[in-house]
Order: sequence, then structure tokens, then C-alpha cells
Amino acid sequence: MKIVRYQTTGPAAWGVLDDGVVMAAEGTPFVDLRPTGRAVEDATLLAPVAPRTVLCVGRNYRSHAEEFGNKVPDEPLLFLKPPSAVIGPGEQVVYPSLSGRLDPEAELALVIGRRARHVAAADAWSVIGGYTCGNDITARDIQKSDGQWTRGKGFDTFCPVGPWVETDYDPTDVAVTCTVDGEERQSGRTKDLIFPIPYLIEYITRFTTLEPGDVILSGTPEGVRPVQPGNTVTVEVEGLGSLPNPIVAEGRGGSRILGSRSGSVRT
Ligand code: MG
Repeated sequence: MKIVRYQTTGPAAWGVLDDGVVMAAEGTPFVDLRPTGRAVEDATLLAPVAPRTVLCVGRNYRSHAEEFGNKVPDEPLLFLKPPSAVIGPGEQVVYPSLSGRLDPEAELALVIGRRARHVAAADAWSVIGGYTCGNDITARDIQKSDGQWTRGKGFDTFCPVGPWVETDYDPTDVAVTCTVDGEERQSGRTKDLIFPIPYLIEYITRFTTLEPGDVILSGTPEGVRPVQPGNTVTVEVEGLGSLPNPIVAEGRGGSRILGSRSGSVRT
């Protein structure tokens, strides 16, 4: 099942994508969502998650750790993004005036389906509700100069996610790519994750509680290079569709409101 969040003229709603058509749904996403059978006209897709928490894993592909001269970590390197960073397909990423280097990072995103705390790796799959594409946008200069990652990874719009959450999916060996204006920059496969998904779930839930709808970005493969305002970045994860987002300079209509989307994704 492909879970979406959409908007027509009213408030945002949850739905299901059926052969490219948005169908209305009832129930709770990632726990118990049921399509009603009613097709929705003129739906604009939003981020298919509304997480309390976005947990991210840094340097989880050897090739990416090495391309920036970083040591391959002995344990998962975790950081958080605030929920205000989350945007959906087609929405604008705002290039902050405070930064001089903005890097996209294509990642497989996991969406939690059950409350999870102290989950053993062997049980990890049972707490995952689905998968989608994620983009860990990074102000690389601020990440370095701050000495920790809260601002560099956490600006508004720095976490594009979507276009849908696939609930029936095998994430263990799928392609993750990033293209900029159609040119491929990053390409990797999830089989090369240093810390695989079950290990990450056990490691993370040893220190914090995950709730349904929370998101984990699993790390990015090599090929990370900067983008400029005017570029469009597209993340694709095999079988999970594509997540395009235009980059706009701060102060040029790039405010964090839903009306600011350009190139909006419609079905
Ligand atoms: Mg990343």
C-alpha cells in the first residue's frame, strides 16, 4: 500500500495511492489506514509523514565517509532534524543566506509503524510501517563551523520526504540516487549500509522511544556535491518513486508556507 498525505481546498488529509490515483482513506496512518474507495480530484501531494522526530544517521556508507576524509564510524552517528524541516515533493528548499554551501544527500527513509523502545534487531522489521525517499539537505559550511550539526542540518525545508510511504517493501538491497537538473550525482545501494536497518532500530530504541510516523534517514552514498539556487534536486529510491525539490535563495519567495511550492506534484 502506498500511503500519501494530500491537500485539495481544505486541510491536509491521509490517503492511499492506487494506480496513480489518490483515494481517500480513514484510520491512522502507519497503524491502521483503510482506503474508502473514493477517488480525490486535484490532490496536491504533501510530505507523506508528519513526524514528531526525524532521526538521521551520518556516515553510514563507507564511500561517503571517505569522500569527506572522515573516519568510518565504529557506532552509528546519530543526529536530529526538527519537524519544521520536513517538506514534501515539489516544495521549495530554501538556500539560507547564512550559508555558502548547500549539499543534498539522497537517503532511504524509514517510517515507524509501532511505538518502539528496546527493540532487538531480530524484531526490528515489525516496528517499521513503511519506506520513502528522503533528502538530508545540509549547510556544509555551518555544519563544520558550528562544531555540531543542529543548525547545519536543521534549517526549515532541510528535510524533503516523499512522495509516498510504501508499506510492502524489501529495503535491503535497493538503489538510492540523487540527480541535479537531470544529471546523476549520487548512486549507491542499501546493501552497503555500514549499520543495517535492524542494527539501527536496536541502537536507536536503546536510548529513545519511537512513535508511529517518526522518520529515520538511513544515510547517504558517495557523490555528494553542492547545489545552487535554480537547481532542482531529485532523490530516487528504487521502487519508491521520485522526490523532486527546487532550490530557491532565501528572500525570493522561499518562505516556509505551503503556498510557496513551485513545480507542485499533482497526480
Ligand atoms: Mg545524511
